Amino acid sequence: MSTGRYDLENSRALYKRARRVLPGGVNASARFNPALQHPLFMERGEGAYLYDVDGHRYIDYNMSHGASLLGHGHPAVIAAVREVLEKGILCACETAIQVEVAEQLIRLFPGSEMVRFTGSGTEATWHALRIARAYTGKWDVVKFEGHYHGVNDTVGFSCRPRLELAGPPETPRPVPDSAGIPPENAERVTVLPFNDTAALECALRQNAGLIAALIMEPINYDAQGLRPTDEFIRMVRALTHELGIVLIFDEVLSGFRVGPGAALANTGITPDMTVLGKAVGGGLPLSVVMGSRAIMETCTPSGPALQSGTYNAHLLQVIGARAFLREATRPGFYEHLNALGERLYAGMREIFAQRDIVAWVQGIGCRFGLLFGLDAEPRNYRDTMRQDMDKMAAFHLACLERGVYLHHFSPHHGYSIAHTMADIEETLDVMDQAAKEILRHWRR
Ligand code: PLP
Repeated sequence: MSTGRYDLENSRALYKRARRVLPGGVNASARFNPALQHPLFMERGEGAYLYDVDGHRYIDYNMSHGASLLGHGHPAVIAAVREVLEKGILCACETAIQVEVAEQLIRLFPGSEMVRFTGSGTEATWHALRIARAYTGKWDVVKFEGHYHGVNDTVGFSCRPRLELAGPPETPRPVPDSAGIPPENAERVTVLPFNDTAALECALRQNAGLIAALIMEPINYDAQGLRPTDEFIRMVRALTHELGIVLIFDEVLSGFRVGPGAALANTGITPDMTVLGKAVGGGLPLSVVMGSRAIMETCTPSGPALQSGTYNAHLLQVIGARAFLREATRPGFYEHLNALGERLYAGMREIFAQRDIVAWVQGIGCRFGLLFGLDAEPRNYRDTMRQDMDKMAAFHLACLERGVYLHHFSPHHGYSIAHTMADIEETLDVMDQAAKEILRHWRR
């Protein structure tokens, strides 16, 4: 499948060194590229582009797994970081900046009245669940199959379970995402199929007295961008409200993807708590736990749920959010993103149709899923498992070799405000060649 021009000698040499000192040669398992059999080592990022250590330029459709919605090294973020350097890299202190950013987030996310800042999405979902448990005095958590909430022992179940382990579709079994999670944690987690109103109602009504929280991705980008049906999301809200269950929207990935705030803002549905990460920090490692005043006052020192940390709300991170929010609320920001998406998704659909390749492009806002072998919108994780993973891997590799970076095996891809229409046209040319290449390969 190689173009024969794609030399990764420096990446391979670095991998050899890295393997001796970093498990698997990486600092996050997702960075190992199974198709290349090593990670791609990068030199730098600039706007929409990544440059690797072998001198290749890529149009980036990973964008730091969604963290760099402003593009790599946006001038406003760089200026903000300089401001913090001049303030002495203030750490473990409260300043006016945290208050200002909290106020702005509350304006953008209806239903949230108070905020705590942490570092990663993993931390934020973990804190949110602790707060919800402390608030309700209950222990159990409901999550959906195919939804991801971080590398987290509390809800680290059934993100991408193998179907032979996953149990019946209506009553999935909690399958741990990792070794090392105590089996008794599974007893506190109920895994449900997404978009199944009957399964939802039955599970919540049966165990309402035990369930502290229901956590979900409002748009399930971690399973290629699954949307909740109108009926389903309304039922989630109505039942959790009626039964005293804290509804947590994990918007680590979905926040700011379709507009300057919540992914489901146009439905009018507001959760009790929201968790943010990725984009909100402008590429700096910030996450956010927000919620109603009553719930958030459960945090120490107002209430009994210990919530603290040396690096909580580090100024370097929070100032990234200030820069991000100023950019994302400028007129024209989402118009530009939407115009790029319209052209990209339509162009991709056209390429696959012209070549008789069955593939579903699930574009929602500025992130998208791409499922080979599907000809209808998937509704839940098990629908997405019908995709042809070999074709997907071959397509990703064929794009990579031609300078378009789709993160290998990722269930979601996306672009940034730094991408231009010219980048999209170049991408579509590459995708067209990649489509031709995979067909040649498959017909052999
Ligand atoms: N929640 C969602 C919806 C995510 O997509 C992710 C990361 O991909 C996380 C939580 C965990 O975030 P982090 O990787 O910053 O720990």
